[in-house]
Amino acid sequence: MKSIRVHGFRLGVHTSIAGGISKSVERAVALNANTFQIFSHNPRQWRENRITEEDAERFSILRQKYDIRPAFIHASYLINLASPSDLILKKSIELLSYELTNADTLGAEYVVLHTGSVSGESGRTARSRAANAILKAVCKKRHSSSLLLENTAGEKGDITSSIRTLAEIMEMCSCESMAGICIDTCHAFSYGYDLTSSEGIERLLSEIDKYIGLDKLRLMHLNDSRRPLGSHIDRHEHIGKGFIGIKGFKKILSDKRILRVPLILETPKETEDDDKRNLKRVCEILNSRVKS
Ligand code: MN
Ligand code: MN
Ligand code: ZN
Repeated sequence: MKSIRVHGFRLGVHTSIAGGISKSVERAVALNANTFQIFSHNPRQWRENRITEEDAERFSILRQKYDIRPAFIHASYLINLASPSDLILKKSIELLSYELTNADTLGAEYVVLHTGSVSGESGRTARSRAANAILKAVCKKRHSSSLLLENTAGEKGDITSSIRTLAEIMEMCSCESMAGICIDTCHAFSYGYDLTSSEGIERLLSEIDKYIGLDKLRLMHLNDSRRPLGSHIDRHEHIGKGFIGIKGFKKILSDKRILRVPLILETPKETEDDDKRNLKRVCEILNSRVKS
């Protein structure tokens, strides 16, 4: 993957923090990645583990030594800023604030968030609740890290699957810590943006340009989709093995507006070689593009 560094792309994967948070950097280095994403704690538990000062220091020393940047922290899946339950909402705000505090401690640049979902209520009401929650958890505190909102697949009750709905929240809580958005290719495709066609890619990017601003696109999650276009189901697949396919990724990765953004894979990890193989596929596409 040396050539990726030469050509200035930022490419990496979501790595595990098993054995200590700094191990995640070692795993990124071993894969020859130059950016990465982690969970700062178990994403399916409310319980928080404190990060030790020693581990945080090792985390940043390793990142500097190997030029691994930016570092993204994916926020817990338990956070639901759209929840009509006061208790869940309160716990979600606390956990989101904790994610940004962890990012500050580690010197990680960004926290990536799925805003949430709700049923039996208008999306607009839920989105203003989520925006208020972000104001409390993020904007009213002093954080060195920033927040990115990720598009979702449009499963039942999802409140931010389209670019316009992401824009709605961005507008309601514009502050310095609200840096922009992360676009997940699997989610966009499942929602209905046809990323296998130039028209579909153009539709996605022109909506970002129009409603949010392309400068606010800070991260791409590169995942193929196990489910077809418009299925509204979030199932990630290995690069080239799903409905987006190699042809789709060739189109996606030929667009300059996308290539200037860090690319992170969240593809399945069924065998030990999966990350390597998926990264290699992306590298091959990028390299063939650079040569042509
Ligand atoms: Mn995500
Ligand atoms: Mn994602
Ligand atoms: Zn997903």
